[in-house]
Amino acid sequence: MHDILPEDQKYFRKIVEVAEGILHFYGFGKIDIPVLEQTELFSKGTGLSTDIVQKQMYNLKTKGDDLLTLRPEFTPGIVRAYVEHGMVSLPQPIKLYAVGPVFRYETPQAGRFREFNQLDIEIIGEKSPVKDAQLIQIFYNILKELKIKNLMVEVNSIGDSQCRSYYKKLLMSYLRSREHSVCGDCRRRMKENSLRFLDCKEEKCQPIKAQAPQIIDHLCEECHSHFKEVLEFLDEIEVPYRLNPYLVRGLDYYTKTVFEIFKEPESKGETAPIALAGGGRYDGLVKLLGGKDAPACGGAAGIERIVYLMKTEEEKKQKEVSLQGSQVFLAQLGDLAKRRSLKLLEEFRKARIDVAESFGRDSLRAQLGKANNMKTLYTLILGQREALEGTVIIKDMVSGRQETVKMEKAVEQIKKKLKK
Ligand code: AMP
Repeated sequence: MHDILPEDQKYFRKIVEVAEGILHFYGFGKIDIPVLEQTELFSKGTGLSTDIVQKQMYNLKTKGDDLLTLRPEFTPGIVRAYVEHGMVSLPQPIKLYAVGPVFRYETPQAGRFREFNQLDIEIIGEKSPVKDAQLIQIFYNILKELKIKNLMVEVNSIGDSQCRSYYKKLLMSYLRSREHSVCGDCRRRMKENSLRFLDCKEEKCQPIKAQAPQIIDHLCEECHSHFKEVLEFLDEIEVPYRLNPYLVRGLDYYTKTVFEIFKEPESKGETAPIALAGGGRYDGLVKLLGGKDAPACGGAAGIERIVYLMKTEEEKKQKEVSLQGSQVFLAQLGDLAKRRSLKLLEEFRKARIDVAESFGRDSLRAQLGKANNMKTLYTLILGQREALEGTVIIKDMVSGRQETVKMEKAVEQIKKKLKK
């Protein structure tokens, strides 16, 4: 769990502002639901076989013996509100969004918190595949408007209760003969929800996964044509996507379409894609939670992860601007020179001339390389000899010419050169 410090508030505000702009255009209304709900809502809604219910919920018992849970996701709470407030009698679909914290007992690591904020979007009471595509488009557009680059949507269909149960049997019979080759988690999953085997990340399960039957080949006619239409709509609205036959999303309530949106790595430094949003269709959940049969779809985006990307992008830009801003670089070699350089840097600061430096680097070659990359016009070089003599070399980075000047004249000389 973490604090959101004053300097980060603007990112959270910006995300909500952009999201609301888009959501209001599409006719969504905001809903706030309690942070605490009956535990049963999640064990029934999210599902007993899910990691969330099995391992990740913060549960508590009240003095009156009620079992309550800090919401680990929004969907069951919003569906409960839909049922409780009789929204089924209003013109359908009901389009809702919510923003706020959710709680999951996770192993904390980079980008994975125990309390984090989600932007949740739900469309209840409409079975058309247009809605699945529109939901994906809305998340995609929000992320794009927030200037998140390299976005990729992954989609899959996990069928409905009928074709999925047939597929699960098929998958089970495939897995049974390989039970001893899969990881311990997957052996457990085989008993509870064999579909979860498909999103196992363990290395030893990968070759078995690659040979496994794929659900997409076993969808019933209705699910097949629903999925085909979702993809056609995505093509039409030019949302880039990729089919991922292993995407199952680990929640019990999904039917037909499931999706995730990632930011793919841009450079070698970034290794793994970052999951920013995910969701799908859940045609059976409203009924399961006591309402009339109402088809629906929804999803959630992780706000902290978007904030992280927005901050990284801003830092990158700031660095570029500051690098472009310096026309002079100060390179030094040796202890005495380093000390003198600090003093010289101060002189430049007082004269309001931007000077870049890399005092952390000791090799002159590395420092000159950096000055070169930054495309500075002049590099001041202060070696041991110059430090002893009280001089400094000014190197013209364009012509390569060098001249030695008295240290106290350095600022004046550079000023003159920059004015030319
Ligand atoms: P989920 O509700 O698991 O589908 O997650 C939806 C989105 O919430 C993910 O794509 C992530 O961006 C974000 N998210 C999920 N779990 C965490 C977590 N523990 N910490 C931060 N963000 C998370």
